[in-house]
Amino acid sequence: MSQMKRSVRVAIAAVGSLLLAASCNANETASAGGAQVAASAAIDTAAISANSPASSNWLTYGGSYNSNHFSALKKIDTSNVDKLGLAWTYDLNTTHHGVESIPVVVDGVMYVTAPWNAVHALDATTGEQIWSYDPRVPRSVARKGCCDVVNRGVAVYQGKVFEATFDGRLIALDAATGKLVWSTDTLPDGNHNYTITGAPLAANGKVIIGNGGAEYFGARGYVSAYDAQTGELDWRWHTVPGDPDKPYENAAMEKAAKTWDPKTKYWKQGGGGTVWQSFSYDPKLDLLYFGTGNADPWDPNSRGGPKYDSLYTASIVALKLSTGKYVWHYQTTPADMSDYDSDQDLALTSLKIDGESVPVIMNANKNGFFFVLDRRNGKFISAENFTPANWATGYTKEGKPILTGLGQSGKPFETIPGPYAAHNWQAASYSPETGLAYIPAQLIPIVMAPVGNDPESKGKAGGINSGNGWNTGMQLVGGGKTTPFGRLIAWNPVTQKQAWAHDYPAPWNGGTLATAGNLVFQATADGRLVAFNAQNGESRWESSLGQGAIAGPITYSVDGTQYVTIAVGWGGSAGQSFSATDRQGPGTVFTFALGGKATPPEFAKRKTAPLLSGVAYDPKDVAAGTAVYLNNCAICHGTPGQNKGGSVPNLGYVDAAIIKSLGSFVFNGPYVSNGMPDFTDRLTQDDVTKLKAFIQATATAVGKQ
Ligand code: CA
Repeated sequence: MSQMKRSVRVAIAAVGSLLLAASCNANETASAGGAQVAASAAIDTAAISANSPASSNWLTYGGSYNSNHFSALKKIDTSNVDKLGLAWTYDLNTTHHGVESIPVVVDGVMYVTAPWNAVHALDATTGEQIWSYDPRVPRSVARKGCCDVVNRGVAVYQGKVFEATFDGRLIALDAATGKLVWSTDTLPDGNHNYTITGAPLAANGKVIIGNGGAEYFGARGYVSAYDAQTGELDWRWHTVPGDPDKPYENAAMEKAAKTWDPKTKYWKQGGGGTVWQSFSYDPKLDLLYFGTGNADPWDPNSRGGPKYDSLYTASIVALKLSTGKYVWHYQTTPADMSDYDSDQDLALTSLKIDGESVPVIMNANKNGFFFVLDRRNGKFISAENFTPANWATGYTKEGKPILTGLGQSGKPFETIPGPYAAHNWQAASYSPETGLAYIPAQLIPIVMAPVGNDPESKGKAGGINSGNGWNTGMQLVGGGKTTPFGRLIAWNPVTQKQAWAHDYPAPWNGGTLATAGNLVFQATADGRLVAFNAQNGESRWESSLGQGAIAGPITYSVDGTQYVTIAVGWGGSAGQSFSATDRQGPGTVFTFALGGKATPPEFAKRKTAPLLSGVAYDPKDVAAGTAVYLNNCAICHGTPGQNKGGSVPNLGYVDAAIIKSLGSFVFNGPYVSNGMPDFTDRLTQDDVTKLKAFIQATATAVGKQ
């Protein structure tokens, strides 16, 4: 194990599962200047469909409706990629939050989003701003989301730019001016825990959007379609059944209700199954495809036990886009217990299966298996694991997982993959030229335990572990036995075998882009953009990005010049509590071209104090403080002293004065405006005393190791 691997392992052994944000950016301004008119008016369903993928543009989050993250551009290829240089950068004016945005590019104009949802329209050849729009998301909503206040991008359609905001609005902007055309609240009335981080999809006059929240109390997943012109709700489809005392919304809900245990009153918890990533679309079949998130709570024993599948959670679903009617589903993880969201990008292509060309849908799942289904009817074709998996040994030919019985003992257990996923939201690409999928794979160890032993974890609405039914912070005391890794895997979906792989020093790397230049690009946790020969995995080029990157690259062409762009900014769920670099700067868009010679920005070193010492505490408070810390602090701040922090500071490496006056930071403190929650309604002064004991005792123990 390399030094970096060791430190990263310690770092991520610290985290719970997901969550909240801290810090930054009060300076985003709403400015709409510039007269440049985008050609986006011509972008419609036919244009996006035809884009697959031979155009100079990058028209949706996934490149086109097939979500292959592939481009037919090939001016940059394996023979000249070593001449690739920086063409321009653009400062997104945000720090301490992950940048997960994949830009859309239409005829020389780039639309890219920032954390907290500012949308920027740029000249794609120079990076000069055309306009920017800030939807002014209230910073207090950061606590409603599990995984940082990130955003993954926009949809562009018929002269409008559509963005879904963290606080649940769907907004339409004039693509030429950035002026607001309409805005609609996509969330139900009342106090809820939904947030939106995914990119919408626009097709056939509709804009489609879901949301996240299945880690929290009360989130019942759904997908909505809005009229692209007016913002009026067209249809809505829930992913899990509601209160059985009310009429089922449709036959699919009635069918799903049989897979939930009524004794658990699942509808009060919400059920989960949220649709937090973008969508794929087959215009010929008029089928809209999406994945659904985990059931809520995570622990299947809280949902009646493993005999209840909890449909349609952890599933791939197809609806008629025109009507919102259910067509088929395939559940990748029945009775899920490990947060195996099935939301990762769904790539559409045709594969030769048993001598016949079959239109398929492919998914490199959080649960470690790569799925190939017939996208006409959802029929299971094959699934094999691309990373280690200890929860299932494989799938039957009918498409059912062969379970190992993990998690049934009532004792703490390490789940592999863990909730951070074998493959998370980071884009996986597919090249129809090589016939390979390129998966940003990883392992981040996590030990989970039933909450029965931990009264702090039970029944606190808004507490993340209460919503999960497991204590996901058990790694703090138990620790995973496995070694974390980050790995680019080239995967053959026909043979279901690895073609080649490349290991990185750390997990939580960015998404991938495949091109007809026989290249695959990926940004890395240790702050590089790298390019490999797509066919054989030979390393061809790399450039420093100055800080860790997690988003996916794109490529496009303007006036005959091909560009490669990656939006950079460390953070997101796992990135909050560890980092593979010592730098954290503003979110920044990097664009490269052959012969580019621009000067890269230099990002500041993270400021950390020496290992914490001198905070007085009563040793008898440490045990109680552990539970309070796990349930309120660990997911963002990690374990005190075990590493120097990620996009959020590690509390073992801050000034003792801060911990001594912890209450002034916890109760409506100075960082609330930056996204740190106000714990006034959740913690007491006595809790803070216990927290101080845990933080100092843990840092001291680290110092003695
Ligand atoms: Ca989830």
